[in-house]
Amino acid sequence: METLEARKQFNIIRESIKHKIWGRDKYICQYCGKKVITYDDIFDIATQKNWSYDTYYKVLNSTVKDRATIDHIIPLSKGGSNELKNLITACHSCNSKKGNRIWKK
Ligand SMILES: [Zn+2]
Repeated sequence: METLEARKQFNIIRESIKHKIWGRDKYICQYCGKKVITYDDIFDIATQKNWSYDTYYKVLNSTVKDRATIDHIIPLSKGGSNELKNLITACHSCNSKKGNRIWKK
């Protein structure tokens, strides 16, 4: 059962924790091996290259699939925790695929 509580708990994983996990996994999706992109990466490039807001949002939208997310190895809804050892780096596309699979069960 995907619960509101689980979702709420996921949302409280702090940014600093996320960066710690992404750093530990070298910004590589642990499912497909692709390099993930964070909002910070895009923001840095945007400021370096003086992008307009339009360009910035266009790039944000076009890189959604590669966006860095955090996945629970054992989902919270199945008793997993928010401990670092239960959290791994996943790209947005793998994370949503995995989510769907659990959802169908
Ligand atoms: Zn992936």
